[in-house]
Amino acid sequence: MLTKFCPRCFAMNKEAATNCEQCGAPLDEPIGSDYVERLIHALDHPEPNTRATAALILGKIGDQRALDALCSKAETSKDMALLEAVAEALGNFPSQKAIDALAHLLRTSWLPVRVKAAEALKRIGTVDALKVLREIAMKDASELVRKVREDDNEHRPKTLSGSGTCGT
Ligand SMILES: [Zn+2]
Repeated sequence: MLTKFCPRCFAMNKEAATNCEQCGAPLDEPIGSDYVERLIHALDHPEPNTRATAALILGKIGDQRALDALCSKAETSKDMALLEAVAEALGNFPSQKAIDALAHLLRTSWLPVRVKAAEALKRIGTVDALKVLREIAMKDASELVRKVREDDNEHRPKTLSGSGTCGT
């Protein structure tokens, strides 16, 4: 990861930064368990970008406490940018609960959310996730969503090359 998130205001900072550019908070404090709690609270932050960023970070951390919060946002939120982030985050929680929430997001009217949800299901990659992806996404009105499942060849385990890059 080439960026760091401020534990206090969730602004994105350069990896080499020691203090947050936005609020000055030290970035190298050990991340306590309350960090996840604060991120869950930030899902209701008044600033839309912060809400979406919080969802993305929760996905990266993968803490199980976040799963309930993300799923409930998936069911209730009308914030498209947040739902896109929630869909992406849920792709890091290989569980039936996440798959159900993503199935719900595949039925929203927002195309970017459906695309993210389809990609997340593909990332989870279990038999159940791929089944939902096949059944719902292939009937989608948009080619962008249908295409996600057609690229199945990409989903094969990659052969190891010498480069060893590990980007996102
Ligand atoms: Zn900050």
